[in-house]
Amino acid sequence: MPPSAPDPQSKLNQSLSSIRGVGPRMLPKLEKLGLQTVEDALYHLPLRYEDRRTLKSIARLIDGQQEVFVGHVLAAGESLTSRTRRKIYEVIVGDDSGKISLKWFHYRKSWLQKRFTVNQQILVIGEVRRFGATREIHHPDTEPLPDGIEPQQLLQKDPLNFGLILPVYPLTEGLSQKQARKIWFTLIRENACLIESLLPASIVARRQLMPLADALLQVHWPEKQSDFSVLGQGRDLARKSLVFDEFFYLELGLALKRAGVQLEQGISFKVEHRYTLPLNKMLPFKLTDAQRRVLGEIKHDMMAEQPMHRLLQGDVGSGKTLVALMAALIAIENDTQVAVVAPTEILVEQHFQTFDHWLPQLGLTVVLLQGSMPAAAKRAALAAIAAGEVDLVVGTHAVLQTGVEFKRLGLGIVDEQHRFGVRQRSLLKQKGVNPDMLVMTATPIPRTLAMTLYGDLSVSVIDQLPPGRKPVTTHLIRNTQRDKAYQLIRKELGQGRQAYIVYPLVEESEKSDLLAATEAANKLADEIFPDISIGLLHGRMKPAEKEAVMSAFRRGDLQILVSTTVIEVGVDVPNATVMMIEHADRFGLSQLHQLRGRVGRGADKSSCLLVPSEYYSEDAGRRLQVMVETNDGFRIAEADLEIRGPGDFLGTRQAGLPDFRVANLLKDLQVLELARQEAFAYVEQTDRLSSLESQPVKEELIRRWGGRLELATIG
Ligand code: ADP
Ligand code: MG
Repeated sequence: MPPSAPDPQSKLNQSLSSIRGVGPRMLPKLEKLGLQTVEDALYHLPLRYEDRRTLKSIARLIDGQQEVFVGHVLAAGESLTSRTRRKIYEVIVGDDSGKISLKWFHYRKSWLQKRFTVNQQILVIGEVRRFGATREIHHPDTEPLPDGIEPQQLLQKDPLNFGLILPVYPLTEGLSQKQARKIWFTLIRENACLIESLLPASIVARRQLMPLADALLQVHWPEKQSDFSVLGQGRDLARKSLVFDEFFYLELGLALKRAGVQLEQGISFKVEHRYTLPLNKMLPFKLTDAQRRVLGEIKHDMMAEQPMHRLLQGDVGSGKTLVALMAALIAIENDTQVAVVAPTEILVEQHFQTFDHWLPQLGLTVVLLQGSMPAAAKRAALAAIAAGEVDLVVGTHAVLQTGVEFKRLGLGIVDEQHRFGVRQRSLLKQKGVNPDMLVMTATPIPRTLAMTLYGDLSVSVIDQLPPGRKPVTTHLIRNTQRDKAYQLIRKELGQGRQAYIVYPLVEESEKSDLLAATEAANKLADEIFPDISIGLLHGRMKPAEKEAVMSAFRRGDLQILVSTTVIEVGVDVPNATVMMIEHADRFGLSQLHQLRGRVGRGADKSSCLLVPSEYYSEDAGRRLQVMVETNDGFRIAEADLEIRGPGDFLGTRQAGLPDFRVANLLKDLQVLELARQEAFAYVEQTDRLSSLESQPVKEELIRRWGGRLELATIG
């Protein structure tokens, strides 16, 4: 062996700047995609493929498929749609075999006018749809072609972009598809071979899997003779092999956990109820059965020698914070510190108030840590945390920064974790030596999915609301009848209650029909509620301003809070009993559910008024209907999955789901099942990975659990 041959793993860990074609200007763009190392980039897979092996004639384009073809512009111009009378821009393209219409619904007219002139030859890429007798492509990608070029010539002229099955990569601003293809073409060719397959050979043979290196090559640049429809559905062997590998190690970790094997030495806490018992006595209410059961599961994990990685799911208002507080007290009675991290300053402030209410009564210390703190206060807080004088820290991302050092961090609590990436959770974890981790979320994974993934190993569910809560009644109110909503609000205010009015965003510069929250707040104050004190809260405000408005609302000095979605998570004002959501059709289901959770927090009956835009899609209509029908977060999560479909649902970051590099849970559920069986059987066969031949597998498992998978597995 040549003495200087670098080992594959260290090459895989190298920065992307070591890749040919990635210069200092490209690097930050790739980082924006979450890619830092060569290995990250190898696993940055195409979203889909384009079949550019041949150019089809227009007559042979297939409905519902992404197609690539060449034609001449026959006509171009603006018109009104027959049904909704909306302006659209339309370009008719034809060849010898037929014609097709390209349509834009959002566009800049001058740009399109310049781009398409009659008789010009263009290349079109997009999904073909049929409407009755006509076929259309909405918002296609197009490229003008030089006059006189023969389409087939084109295939040969640009071998990286035509004449084969092309990967379509996820992009970011400043990175074009062409650039991405160029980078990954080289990158894969030169580096895929570094990825070693470490699956047990018997399993590879039984499941007929491809070696990972070959699989990566194939997935990025499929062979020309591949079956395109199989590829498009992600059912090709190459992808399946990558997915299997990913699931196998996840399930292997779970199998070992079930068998009681510890991969990392954690803290085994002792539970003597030094603080939890007194707290229980002080609380004005009793814990619900669900809270108590979940607390038992958490205690069990905390007492074990391996570090806890537990996901705590509970609907909004189910009392997660209190459970977190109890867990924190156990960590503190074991002379360790606790960090509570949440995504927004408002939420952090809210948590701080809860913890700061109880801990000092128990003789314990709490500090708040935020990016916006005055430097001196921050310095003092940091010193106290490092000296171990502080028992519990509540903070935003600021807690994760370098310079924040704990004397001994025992428990990390992350609230509303879908706002945090895996890396951020990992940063928190690194503030201690294998601290326990509790991740809380109010947007549940559908139960079926959670069970398949984790079994009952790592997820605790609070499936019960505190007694006396009245479910929020939800009404759908037509845009033209918003006076009805105002009347309802007035009635509540008359009884001393408070109200939220929520808008999707504050973006006055955007020329849409959206009412900007600021404008709306003014109008409400001037015309509709001139006698009522109204506050405004939006994302562009400084943290101090936000907090001032929030506390005025909490105190009851403001009767109506007009807000963008900054109140989405965790805000707790029990006296607010009505929420009106404007343009409700523009919100996703889980977001609507989160928003609605801001009311119905006290003993009084609450209502939620959904006011959609004048026109909205069928899917939006179904979402609104689900909101009217149920308050159950799990049912809403399931409905969300149904309406959006697996691709969309799992494509966005979803609380409780691991950040898989390759796998797509719904699409790959069968592979997950296989991987789970194989992993559990393997743990048994190898006597919990103690046999000699299982050592490479074990090392790989530790590498992955120590880095990515372990944290992913928290949920
Ligand atoms: P979550 O974080 O799950 O949305 P919180 O922990 O903020 O919910 O609790 C919502 C409200 O319910 C808080 O005001 C809290 O004090 C109260 N609460 C929590 N547990 C109980 C309980 N067992 N009985 C009555 N009220 C409770
Ligand atoms: Mg909460």
